[in-house]
Amino acid sequence: MRFSLLRTVGYFAGGLWTAWGGRKRIEARQLRNLRRLVEKARRDSPFFRRLYADLGPSSEVELRELPVTRKPDLMSEFDDWLTIRSLPLDRAREHLRDIQKLGVPIDDVAIFRTSGTSGEPAVIVLPSSFLEYSYGITLARFDRSQWKLTREIRKVGVNVTITGGNGHFAGVGLNKLMSHLAPRLAGPSTFIEAEQSIGGIVERLNAIPKIATILTYPSTLTILAKEKEAGRLQIEPALFKTGGETLTDNLRERVRRAFPSLKHDVIDAYACTECLMPSIECSRGRHHLNEDWVILEAVDEAMQPVPDGTLSATVLVTVLANDVQPFIRYDLGDCLRFYTDPCPCGSPFRSFQVEGREATLIRVGEVTLSPLVFDLEHEQAQRIQLVQTSERDFEVRMELADEAAAGVVFEEVVQSVKRMFLDNGLEDVAVRESQVPPELTASGKFHEVLPLRGSDS
Ligand SMILES: [Zn+2]
Repeated sequence: MRFSLLRTVGYFAGGLWTAWGGRKRIEARQLRNLRRLVEKARRDSPFFRRLYADLGPSSEVELRELPVTRKPDLMSEFDDWLTIRSLPLDRAREHLRDIQKLGVPIDDVAIFRTSGTSGEPAVIVLPSSFLEYSYGITLARFDRSQWKLTREIRKVGVNVTITGGNGHFAGVGLNKLMSHLAPRLAGPSTFIEAEQSIGGIVERLNAIPKIATILTYPSTLTILAKEKEAGRLQIEPALFKTGGETLTDNLRERVRRAFPSLKHDVIDAYACTECLMPSIECSRGRHHLNEDWVILEAVDEAMQPVPDGTLSATVLVTVLANDVQPFIRYDLGDCLRFYTDPCPCGSPFRSFQVEGREATLIRVGEVTLSPLVFDLEHEQAQRIQLVQTSERDFEVRMELADEAAAGVVFEEVVQSVKRMFLDNGLEDVAVRESQVPPELTASGKFHEVLPLRGSDS
């Protein structure tokens, strides 16, 4: 696997040219890229050859004619899905089982896995062209302030990633891959496993003399802000980048106050392993879709388009820059809403906002509660988690700043949670303390509230 700087510059220049041409050129470019991908998929992927058997010529295909694809169907036909024959699922899985091979290419591609929060994890195969696209297009879409920020930050120090380290996830793997393929682009970087204790993360961070950026999940960022407020975390990073979960305005504000060293507001990326760089956030806080290389369709439950301004039931992604593992009208499961008006930043690309998934809602009988109603903060606890163990049984797990205070802290949190249930008319709910440490998702995300497993889809 080789990362070509020349091809990256090609994506960059092409990206600029497309943007300068306005909507007409963007849409023409997208259609051309779509038809090329469809043709490639029909020619080299037995799965798509069968799926598109009744379709007219690829050169006349329109997006809406193409059937929706879903993870279980594609994964069950993995060997026929790819446009290369040299990477059967068994071989990919063997690679993924060996954590030493994280971020190490296999032949001409890199492979990662999804966290599997919505079922079986998917195996994601990325060719070098996809990485070249990611870099080239991101740079093409930068505005003046982002260029300035990038130049300033390069000189500051180390880039830190804090994400799940218990698997071949893109969060950590991409860093390793790029420092191997293009060390000068990647810059000095360090990885910290999100799975360890908060105390451990704080200690690791405090030991790094100069931190330029920290890339992590919003849930981890919440904890970092809290540790900074408590005076245990002493770092002065220049920038935070987040992804993988919903970033709230409250958290942005809290982070701004806790870290006066920041040179920029938190930069939030909407990303998934299937499509790492679908969009870029502008100075107005909107996500602008890289429409020349990615198509996102906001649809309802019947897979019909919803009007701009309406929250979608799910979203279909088409990744035009990955022709080894075609994602065409692939159901991602996220909910988003396209803006109805052009963005004040002047970008010609459509913009959208992402809404969190509903998966974390708590259901007790007829009552549905948002995880946000629970006050799961305590100054003597570093991390508190509320876990629903059966419909009417809950347990509180925590990681304490000072073990000596355990009894009191548990009691206060348990009482506060019980009050919240009572306020919502739920009298017969049991809440007890648990000695089990808080649990993270497979990719190292921390959810404050864990609903009963299997109670949501
Ligand atoms: Zn904008």
